[in-house]
Amino acid sequence: MTTRAFRTAIIGAGPSGFYAADALLKNLESVSVDLFDRLPTPFGLVRYGVAPDHQKIKSVTRLYERTAKDERFRFLGNVEFGKDLSHEDIRHHYDAVIYTVGASADRSLGISGENLAGSTSATEFVAWYNGHPDYTEAFSEVSAKQVAVIGMGNVAVDVTRILAKSVDELKETDIADHALEVLKNSQVEDIYMLGRRGPAQGKFTTKELRELGELLNADIVVDPAEMEVDDVSMKSIEGDVIANKNVEVLTAFAEQPLSGKPRRVHIKFLSSPTEILGEDRVEAIVLEKNRLEPTDSGYINAVGTGETKTLPVQMVLRSVGYRGVALPGVPFDERRGVIPNKDGAVLDAPNGEPVQGEYVAGWIKRGPSGVIGTNKADAMATVEVLLKDFENATLAADDAKTPEAVTALLEERDVNFITFEHWLELDKYELGLGETQGRPRVKLTNIQEMLERIRG
Ligand code: NAP
Repeated sequence: MTTRAFRTAIIGAGPSGFYAADALLKNLESVSVDLFDRLPTPFGLVRYGVAPDHQKIKSVTRLYERTAKDERFRFLGNVEFGKDLSHEDIRHHYDAVIYTVGASADRSLGISGENLAGSTSATEFVAWYNGHPDYTEAFSEVSAKQVAVIGMGNVAVDVTRILAKSVDELKETDIADHALEVLKNSQVEDIYMLGRRGPAQGKFTTKELRELGELLNADIVVDPAEMEVDDVSMKSIEGDVIANKNVEVLTAFAEQPLSGKPRRVHIKFLSSPTEILGEDRVEAIVLEKNRLEPTDSGYINAVGTGETKTLPVQMVLRSVGYRGVALPGVPFDERRGVIPNKDGAVLDAPNGEPVQGEYVAGWIKRGPSGVIGTNKADAMATVEVLLKDFENATLAADDAKTPEAVTALLEERDVNFITFEHWLELDKYELGLGETQGRPRVKLTNIQEMLERIRG
């Protein structure tokens, strides 16, 4: 018998990681939580995913800072799972582990021309303009006059809005300096947001959609003919407040006259990309007109009619969803792009047996859906399962399972780990730089520079 604290490692310091830590700290007195991240900076998609002109959403980090103040909690940044610490190391030093690594890859369209220069994922574009250290050089220019954004989710709306805004609007945000520099010379005139289904099947939330109609630098264009929503679609969204509001907002957009703003945002429905054309770079996209067909399950499918048209565009951003990436030594469901699990308890294979002591929360548990707050209930549910599993367990007296043993191992391996106190110094530095420029923050985007700043 031992009285030592229950040791938990959480891998991935985004919203789900912080919510899982918070749930553990609130529900178990004798616990110690180490939250790891591959990057020196905490907060995951709040820092590298949320759009720079959506500062309010980012204020959620204040809650995470509160969690980080708990003396039973440690943030260990700049530590890569599978490289600096292996799966075996984690199992050796902790009683349980929760994976909260999100879904960092993107889904592809599987059409010809997708790999031409000028065709990339919105995920990459988002990571670039948000200053993710891995993507600082992803875009050296935005010379396209016409851009196609494939998808009708909130990510598609985000990239469309950032492309539509003027540099004067963007320079008031915490957009990465390198992105501001490139977007200063942006040639964009027309952005086509293309959905394979109809207005009733948009995945965006109404607040985000509405913003597209209020842009200072771009007119909104919706073809009134595409707003004739069929009866089956209308019936399918009965009681769905968001979908009904979306249809209402889109209908108003279709009536909004052009006012001669420098850019235009076109929202087009029932269009599936079938091919991207170009010699060395993107020159056009072929779109097939779809019709909607309800299935027995109630899902409304897009079915190609065979009628195609070619739209001249010089840049394509596919925004058709994120996808999880496998972690070394951890089971993975290739088909769904998640860690196989039952209610957050990791399984050795899809529908397989539980892996004792391993859990999962957030996008890598359920797939890339919901808003930041959705991850709170999700992480709490996982922690509930974890606590139930360990309710009557007797912890072995194990000297290896101490907070000091982990940091000693990292030091032995020359891993330059970052604590939350280090991050707070960096945070203060970035906020200070922002203040001098009348911006919320100026982000450091180079890991070496971050480490030097911390040491300095
Ligand atoms: P999403 O909401 O799942 O949207 C993906 C879009 O891609 C859908 O419109 C989907 O159409 C379309 N699509 C998928 N495969 C396609 C294909 N082969 N061809 C054409 N279109 C295809 O994903 P997301 O936009 O990446 O967002 C991920 C999550 O983050 C969402 O829950 C989102 O709300 C959230 N998020 C929130 C905010 C915010 O709150 N401000 C900002 C960004 C992201 P179908 O419907 O036809 O499948």
